Amino acid sequence: MLIVGQGLAGSILAWQLIQCGKSVLVTHDEHASSASRVAAGLFNPVTGQRFVLQSDAEVLIPAARELYTHMEQQFEQPFFYEMPMLRIIKNEKELSTLYKRKTDPVYSAYLGEITTHPSLNAPLGVVEQFQTGYLDTNALLDCLKSYFIENHSFISNQFIHDDLETTAAGICWNGIKANQIIFCEGYMGRNNPWFSWLPFQPAKGEILTLKSTAELPDQIINGGRWLLPVHDGNHKVGATYDHDLSTTRPTEKAEHGLLGAMQQLLIDMPDYEIIAQQCGVRPNTLDKNPFIGFHPEHHQLGIFNGFGSKGSMLIPYYADLFAQHLTDSAEIPARVDIARIQ
Ligand SMILES: Cc1cc2nc3c(=O)[nH]c(=O)nc-3n(C[C@H](O)[C@H](O)[C@H](O)COP(=O)(O)OP(=O)(O)OC[C@H]3O[C@@H](n4cnc5c(N)ncnc54)[C@H](O)[C@@H]3O)c2cc1C
Repeated sequence: MLIVGQGLAGSILAWQLIQCGKSVLVTHDEHASSASRVAAGLFNPVTGQRFVLQSDAEVLIPAARELYTHMEQQFEQPFFYEMPMLRIIKNEKELSTLYKRKTDPVYSAYLGEITTHPSLNAPLGVVEQFQTGYLDTNALLDCLKSYFIENHSFISNQFIHDDLETTAAGICWNGIKANQIIFCEGYMGRNNPWFSWLPFQPAKGEILTLKSTAELPDQIINGGRWLLPVHDGNHKVGATYDHDLSTTRPTEKAEHGLLGAMQQLLIDMPDYEIIAQQCGVRPNTLDKNPFIGFHPEHHQLGIFNGFGSKGSMLIPYYADLFAQHLTDSAEIPARVDIARIQ
């Protein structure tokens, strides 16, 4: 099996396939943009102004937790940090939606008390959210890359689509033969000649990493933009959201916007030093569901992509499911199967 792209999607799928005993080769362009290397890796099952619970959260979260815990044991290194989130209630409408949600037993595992916090600019209060946290995506990807290299399952190379030959038995690329190829190219999947018909809706985002000596809240603070305390003592502030991809480099506009947002979250803006500003492109899709499956005519060409803004929560479950499909013919659910797109 040849996999193109070593972001979270390609890496976790490759890992799952290796666990199933498949022979895998991952080819990865180190110079291309990677959302996974920029992402804060936040885990948040209840989102939006209407506090909507992620569908299938009850299976997605345990699958992610199980996989990351297993990997932490395997690599003897932490990746997944569970941490409560305080969501700032912005207006009366949000407050009344929240009261409704809190009467629904399905939400009781995810929403806690409505409370206040002395450092936060939240006149209507904050609601505690549970089953939240973040994945240290860079640490995980570094470990997986070393693992693939040790297993002779990795090449650092840009995949040129014109070099691919499809054969009756599978594919051939630069002398490498495989039964199937799975494209995990993130937002660049929209330029893939076999899958460019899929309705991608990429969204650029920027994140700041700050160092501060001030005492800041030790929960994730979410008021649309968020403030995340990370394990090395720094804080991340994010994220912008923009469909204009005319530049994919960090911008001053985003820096000012994020610092302004942080100022709105906190009663007192602390002293800080910006130590990084990063920009990446989320592989969002028009109907907000992932793209999983095979080309309608070339069945040796597959895709595992479209995890939007929620890769760290969605990818473990769907990688396991797709690996089972590839090894045991398990069904791909219609909602995520690219066959849904006409
Ligand atoms: C600013 C920002 C904030 C985010 N915050 C969060 C968050 O808090 N929580 C969350 O869950 N998600 C977040 N995301 C989304 C998350 O990053 C994605 O859901 C996830 O990382 C997508 O992984 P991927 O592997 O599909 O794509 P990518 O990480 O983009 O990986 C694709 C890889 O394919 C490689 N590639 C592409 N074309 C080729 C080729 N031709 N040859 C070889 N290699 C190729 C690229 O180099 C790239 O590394 C955020 C994204 C951004 C940009």
